[in-house]
Amino acid sequence: MVYGACMALVLLVEDDPAVQTAMTAALRGADHVVQPVGTALLALQAVTDDAVDLVVLDLGLPDLDGFEVLRMLRAVSQVPVIIATARSDDPTIVRLLDAGADDYITKPFSSGVLIARVNAVLRRVGDAARAEDGPITICELVVDKARHEVTLGGSAVELPRREFDLLAYLAERCGTVVPKSELAREVWHQPNMNLDPTIDVHLSWLRRKLGETAANPRYLHTVRGVGIKMVDPCANSSLV
Ligand code: CA
Repeated sequence: MVYGACMALVLLVEDDPAVQTAMTAALRGADHVVQPVGTALLALQAVTDDAVDLVVLDLGLPDLDGFEVLRMLRAVSQVPVIIATARSDDPTIVRLLDAGADDYITKPFSSGVLIARVNAVLRRVGDAARAEDGPITICELVVDKARHEVTLGGSAVELPRREFDLLAYLAERCGTVVPKSELAREVWHQPNMNLDPTIDVHLSWLRRKLGETAANPRYLHTVRGVGIKMVDPCANSSLV
Protein backbone atom coordinates (compact mmCIF):
# COMPACT_ATOMS: atom_id res chain seq x y z
CA MET A 1 0.00 0.00 0.00
CA VAL A 2 1.33 3.42 -0.96
CA TYR A 3 0.59 6.27 1.37
CA GLY A 4 2.27 9.41 2.57
CA ALA A 5 4.81 9.65 5.36
CA CYS A 6 2.60 12.31 6.92
CA MET A 7 -0.45 10.12 7.08
CA ALA A 8 -1.25 7.38 9.52
CA LEU A 9 -2.30 3.96 8.25
CA VAL A 10 -5.13 2.79 10.47
CA LEU A 11 -6.06 -0.87 10.39
CA LEU A 12 -9.76 -1.08 11.20
CA VAL A 13 -10.91 -4.50 12.36
CA GLU A 14 -14.71 -4.61 12.40
CA ASP A 15 -17.02 -7.35 11.13
CA ASP A 16 -20.29 -5.38 11.02
CA PRO A 17 -20.41 -3.96 7.45
CA ALA A 18 -22.48 -0.88 8.35
CA VAL A 19 -20.27 0.01 11.32
CA GLN A 20 -17.13 -0.66 9.28
CA THR A 21 -18.32 1.64 6.49
CA ALA A 22 -19.21 4.44 8.90
CA MET A 23 -15.93 4.19 10.83
CA THR A 24 -13.87 4.06 7.62
CA ALA A 25 -15.58 7.19 6.30
CA ALA A 26 -15.05 9.02 9.59
CA LEU A 27 -11.34 8.17 9.77
CA ARG A 28 -10.76 9.00 6.10
CA GLY A 29 -12.54 12.31 6.69
CA ALA A 30 -9.93 12.99 9.36
CA ASP A 31 -7.08 12.46 6.82
CA HIS A 32 -6.14 8.94 7.84
CA VAL A 33 -5.48 6.11 5.43
CA VAL A 34 -7.77 3.25 6.45
CA GLN A 35 -7.47 -0.44 5.73
CA PRO A 36 -10.74 -2.09 6.80
CA VAL A 37 -10.83 -5.84 7.51
CA GLY A 38 -13.61 -8.02 8.92
CA THR A 39 -11.80 -10.94 10.56
CA ALA A 40 -9.06 -11.53 13.11
CA LEU A 41 -7.00 -13.56 10.66
CA LEU A 42 -6.99 -10.76 8.07
CA ALA A 43 -6.05 -8.32 10.84
CA LEU A 44 -3.09 -10.41 11.97
CA GLN A 45 -1.96 -10.80 8.38
CA ALA A 46 -2.21 -7.02 7.74
CA VAL A 47 -0.22 -6.18 10.86
CA THR A 48 2.53 -8.56 9.76
CA ASP A 49 2.60 -7.37 6.13
CA ASP A 50 1.99 -3.64 6.29
CA ALA A 51 3.40 -0.62 8.05
CA VAL A 52 0.29 -0.19 10.19
CA ASP A 53 0.48 2.83 12.52
CA LEU A 54 -2.55 2.02 14.65
CA VAL A 55 -5.17 -0.71 15.03
CA VAL A 56 -8.80 -0.15 15.98
CA LEU A 57 -9.98 -3.59 17.07
CA ASP A 58 -13.56 -4.71 17.56
CA LEU A 59 -13.68 -7.13 20.48
CA GLY A 60 -16.50 -9.25 19.03
CA LEU A 61 -15.16 -10.84 15.83
CA PRO A 62 -16.58 -13.94 14.12
CA ASP A 63 -13.40 -16.04 13.99
CA LEU A 64 -11.49 -15.37 17.21
CA ASP A 65 -12.12 -13.98 20.68
CA GLY A 66 -10.98 -10.36 20.94
CA PHE A 67 -8.64 -11.02 23.86
CA GLU A 68 -7.00 -13.78 21.88
CA VAL A 69 -6.57 -11.43 18.89
CA LEU A 70 -5.01 -8.80 21.13
CA ARG A 71 -2.62 -11.36 22.62
CA MET A 72 -1.60 -12.58 19.14
CA LEU A 73 -1.19 -9.01 17.88
CA ARG A 74 1.06 -8.21 20.82
CA ALA A 75 3.16 -11.28 20.09
CA VAL A 76 4.13 -9.90 16.66
CA SER A 77 3.84 -6.11 16.95
CA GLN A 78 4.10 -3.11 19.27
CA VAL A 79 1.59 -1.17 17.12
CA PRO A 80 -0.83 0.90 19.24
CA VAL A 81 -4.23 -0.77 19.63
CA ILE A 82 -7.55 0.87 20.50
CA ILE A 83 -10.28 -1.60 21.43
CA ALA A 84 -13.86 -0.94 20.38
CA THR A 85 -16.08 -2.81 22.78
CA ALA A 86 -19.69 -3.01 23.89
CA ARG A 87 -18.46 -4.35 27.25
CA SER A 88 -17.53 -1.48 29.52
CA ASP A 89 -17.47 -3.23 32.91
CA ASP A 90 -14.34 -2.62 34.99
CA PRO A 91 -12.94 -6.19 34.90
CA THR A 92 -13.13 -6.23 31.08
CA ILE A 93 -11.43 -2.85 30.74
CA VAL A 94 -8.70 -3.81 33.22
CA ARG A 95 -8.13 -7.09 31.40
CA LEU A 96 -7.90 -5.27 28.04
CA LEU A 97 -5.37 -2.73 29.24
CA ASP A 98 -3.36 -5.47 30.98
CA ALA A 99 -3.35 -7.46 27.73
CA GLY A 100 -1.64 -4.56 25.93
CA ALA A 101 -4.45 -2.33 24.66
CA ASP A 102 -3.44 1.34 24.55
CA ASP A 103 -6.96 2.67 24.90
CA TYR A 104 -10.59 1.63 24.42
CA ILE A 105 -13.85 3.13 23.21
CA THR A 106 -17.24 1.92 24.34
CA LYS A 107 -19.85 1.10 21.69
CA PRO A 108 -21.90 2.87 20.55
CA PHE A 109 -19.56 5.83 20.04
CA SER A 110 -19.70 8.93 17.84
CA SER A 111 -17.26 9.46 14.98
CA GLY A 112 -15.99 12.52 16.90
CA VAL A 113 -14.93 10.35 19.85
CA LEU A 114 -13.36 7.76 17.54
CA ILE A 115 -11.28 10.39 15.74
CA ALA A 116 -10.26 12.11 18.99
CA ARG A 117 -9.10 8.82 20.56
CA VAL A 118 -7.20 7.80 17.40
CA ASN A 119 -5.50 11.19 17.15
CA ALA A 120 -4.64 11.21 20.87
CA VAL A 121 -2.93 7.81 20.64
CA LEU A 122 -1.10 8.78 17.43
CA ARG A 123 0.06 12.00 19.11
CA ARG A 124 1.51 10.03 22.03
CA VAL A 125 3.29 7.68 19.63
CA GLY A 126 4.56 10.68 17.64
CA ASP A 127 5.88 12.34 20.79
CA ALA A 128 7.75 9.17 21.70
CA ALA A 129 9.20 8.90 18.17
CA ARG A 130 10.28 12.56 18.25
CA ALA A 131 12.03 11.97 21.57
CA GLU A 132 14.22 9.40 19.81
CA ASP A 133 15.54 12.15 17.52
CA GLY A 134 16.08 9.92 14.49
CA PRO A 135 16.16 11.39 10.95
CA ILE A 136 12.76 12.28 9.50
CA THR A 137 12.19 11.19 5.91
CA ILE A 138 9.40 12.80 3.89
CA CYS A 139 9.48 11.88 0.22
CA GLU A 140 12.89 13.15 -1.02
CA LEU A 141 13.52 15.27 2.06
CA VAL A 142 15.54 14.02 5.02
CA VAL A 143 15.86 16.13 8.16
CA ASP A 144 18.42 14.86 10.64
CA LYS A 145 18.17 16.83 13.86
CA ALA A 146 20.96 15.00 15.65
CA ARG A 147 23.46 15.79 12.87
CA HIS A 148 21.85 19.11 11.98
CA GLU A 149 21.72 18.08 8.33
CA VAL A 150 19.11 18.34 5.60
CA THR A 151 19.20 16.55 2.27
CA LEU A 152 16.83 16.81 -0.67
CA GLY A 153 17.01 14.01 -3.22
CA GLY A 154 20.36 13.02 -1.69
CA SER A 155 21.92 16.51 -2.03
CA ALA A 156 22.83 18.53 1.05
CA VAL A 157 20.74 21.65 1.69
CA GLU A 158 22.59 24.32 3.69
CA LEU A 159 20.27 26.06 6.13
CA PRO A 160 20.93 28.74 8.74
CA ARG A 161 19.92 27.69 12.24
CA ARG A 162 16.49 29.35 12.29
CA GLU A 163 15.47 27.93 8.92
CA PHE A 164 16.67 24.51 10.04
CA ASP A 165 14.70 24.75 13.29
CA LEU A 166 11.60 25.87 11.39
CA LEU A 167 11.87 23.03 8.87
CA ALA A 168 12.53 20.43 11.58
CA TYR A 169 9.58 21.64 13.66
CA LEU A 170 7.21 21.40 10.69
CA ALA A 171 8.64 18.04 9.53
CA GLU A 172 8.08 16.55 12.98
CA ARG A 173 4.45 17.60 12.70
CA CYS A 174 4.05 16.55 9.08
CA GLY A 175 0.39 16.40 8.03
CA THR A 176 -0.87 18.80 10.69
CA VAL A 177 -1.38 22.55 10.37
CA VAL A 178 0.94 24.48 12.69
CA PRO A 179 -0.27 28.01 13.58
CA LYS A 180 2.26 30.83 13.19
CA SER A 181 1.70 31.75 16.85
CA GLU A 182 2.99 28.28 17.77
CA LEU A 183 6.06 28.79 15.55
CA ALA A 184 6.70 32.15 17.23
CA ARG A 185 6.53 30.47 20.62
CA GLU A 186 8.36 27.20 19.90
CA VAL A 187 10.87 28.09 17.17
CA TRP A 188 11.53 31.80 17.84
CA HIS A 189 10.84 31.54 21.59
CA GLN A 190 8.93 34.83 21.46
CA PRO A 191 5.39 33.91 22.51
CA ASN A 192 4.12 37.43 22.93
CA MET A 193 5.17 38.94 19.61
CA ASN A 194 3.44 38.90 16.25
CA LEU A 195 6.20 37.39 14.13
CA ASP A 196 4.01 36.58 11.11
CA PRO A 197 6.03 38.75 8.67
CA THR A 198 9.33 37.31 10.00
CA ILE A 199 8.01 33.77 9.69
CA ASP A 200 6.80 34.47 6.13
CA VAL A 201 10.26 35.70 5.13
CA HIS A 202 11.94 32.61 6.58
CA LEU A 203 9.38 30.40 4.86
CA SER A 204 10.09 31.99 1.50
CA TRP A 205 13.86 31.46 1.97
CA LEU A 206 13.20 27.87 2.98
CA ARG A 207 10.91 27.30 -0.01
CA ARG A 208 13.54 28.63 -2.41
CA LYS A 209 16.09 26.16 -1.02
CA LEU A 210 13.59 23.32 -1.34
CA GLY A 211 12.91 24.35 -4.96
CA GLU A 212 9.34 25.47 -4.47
CA THR A 213 7.28 28.65 -4.16
CA ALA A 214 4.24 29.71 -2.16
CA ALA A 215 2.20 29.61 -5.38
CA ASN A 216 3.51 26.14 -6.30
CA PRO A 217 4.26 24.42 -3.00
CA ARG A 218 5.45 20.84 -2.63
CA TYR A 219 6.35 20.41 1.04
CA LEU A 220 5.35 23.68 2.68
CA HIS A 221 1.70 24.57 2.27
CA THR A 222 0.19 27.76 3.65
CA VAL A 223 -3.30 27.20 5.03
CA ARG A 224 -4.69 30.70 4.85
CA GLY A 225 -5.71 32.13 8.18
CA VAL A 226 -4.61 28.98 10.03
CA GLY A 227 -0.91 28.29 9.57
CA ILE A 228 1.65 26.14 7.77
CA LYS A 229 1.37 22.47 6.94
CA MET A 230 4.17 20.15 5.88
CA VAL A 231 2.85 17.78 3.24
CA ASP A 232 4.34 14.62 1.75
CA PRO A 233 4.42 15.32 -2.02
CA CYS A 234 4.98 11.59 -2.69
CA ALA A 235 1.70 10.71 -1.04
CA ASN A 236 -0.85 9.06 -3.24
CA SER A 237 -3.72 11.44 -2.71
CA SER A 238 -6.20 9.12 -4.42
CA LEU A 239 -6.05 6.87 -1.37
CA VAL A 240 -7.00 9.62 1.07
CA1 CA B 1 -18.45 -7.30 15.98
